[in-house]
Amino acid sequence: MSWPHGAEDDYHAPRRWPSDGDDGERWVYSCRAQGRQWPLGYCSARCRHGTPDEAAAHYRQYLLDTARYDGHWRGVAYRCELCDTWTDRFAQLESFALHRLCPAHLNREGLSRVLKRTPVAESR
Ligand SMILES: [Zn+2]
Ligand SMILES: [Zn+2]
Repeated sequence: MSWPHGAEDDYHAPRRWPSDGDDGERWVYSCRAQGRQWPLGYCSARCRHGTPDEAAAHYRQYLLDTARYDGHWRGVAYRCELCDTWTDRFAQLESFALHRLCPAHLNREGLSRVLKRTPVAESR
């Protein structure tokens, strides 16, 4: 597995998707690089999200379903992102983001709380 380098993650964001008619604004969670963009996670060109938040929520489902909860640092500890307890455990997302969580919060429920309050990615 490769570790994230550079600013690749900055290309991940909810974006307006070209609409094929009069169905109004469409948003799809997507990756953009080298002049191309494609849907990420559960999002596809068939998605009909009316807002960026909806698209981000759809992508969040994918992150939760694919997250791994077995991260373990050795010799260092950080504060749990939810309760400030010291922990050396973390969850890792398919997007390579890490979230520091104590054993009590190192699960889908805890991770979902963290993701809800952190934007999946900022559009820059
Ligand atoms: Zn979607
Ligand atoms: Zn915690």
